[in-house]
Amino acid sequence: MRIVRTVEGLREALTPARREGRTIGLVPTMGALHDGHLSLVHCAHEQCDVVVVSLFVNPAQFNERGDLDHYPRDERRDAETAAQAGTDVLFAPSVEEVYPTGFATTVEVLGVTERLEGAARGAAHFRGVSTVVAKLLCMTLPDVAYFGQKDAQQVVVIRRLARDLNLPVRIEALPTVRERDGLAMSSRNALLSADERARALALPAALDAARALAANGERSTRRLLDAARAALRPFDVEPEYLELVEPDTLEPIDTLTRDALLAIAAPIGEVRLIDNAILTSVASAAPTAVQEPKGDTVATCNA
Ligand code: AMP
Repeated sequence: MRIVRTVEGLREALTPARREGRTIGLVPTMGALHDGHLSLVHCAHEQCDVVVVSLFVNPAQFNERGDLDHYPRDERRDAETAAQAGTDVLFAPSVEEVYPTGFATTVEVLGVTERLEGAARGAAHFRGVSTVVAKLLCMTLPDVAYFGQKDAQQVVVIRRLARDLNLPVRIEALPTVRERDGLAMSSRNALLSADERARALALPAALDAARALAANGERSTRRLLDAARAALRPFDVEPEYLELVEPDTLEPIDTLTRDALLAIAAPIGEVRLIDNAILTSVASAAPTAVQEPKGDTVATCNA
């Protein structure tokens, strides 16, 4: 695996592959790599000839200075993990390389950025995400870029961005990888104390409660959200938001008549966690529909 730190170095590393018509897959990450990230790398490895993993803690998408300062970083360990997973090129640029003096351009996706994470974290968050992803796509020019459904709104935003800017890239979204007990893997989980780690199970518990009720035929958003909220209570967790929305537009829905996205964000002590699930309306569910297994640790590459 090659480690490159400059855009020029990245382009040089990829020139032979591009010339030979080999396909390039990009997995953008902020590091502190875990099995969720690795599911994306494995899928890229399966589908593409060359796998690029970017490692960049993007200051522009952090709305709180403390969150940026405390974000876990361990480049040496990440490099070993990425290499073992089959990464060909690790792109680990400095902040100055990505945002050189005089940098003055931002990419802003409207509409789908205004709800959920956008409403909670402010417009600057998705401006930061969209700008850095647009830049990483321009720097790497991959055939396919891989993202996790764990950040469901981010996937919607990136798909919109790629379509609106006519970027010649396919966007793949892969299922959320979870710990055995159901907690969605996240770099931020490393910041939880033992007590907080136990309380963090409130998020999957809330999603499960609503999912179980939906599977029983409940269609009222109010009752589904009430069930999710009730499941949070024993953990003493207050959500920052808990919403049932249309999966593509992220508009709130009153009644579960088609698949809908149940999204939650909640602070656990100082650590802010997010999670989500697709709720399937009984009316729309095929009789043979296979539910995502609880505690799924092996993500499938939906090639
Ligand atoms: P991050 O390093 O948190 O910016 O995440 C990099 C990529 O990994 C994003 O596309 C995330 O959605 C994805 N990702 C993070 N956690 C998970 C997870 N538990 N399962 C699947 N993908 C994930």
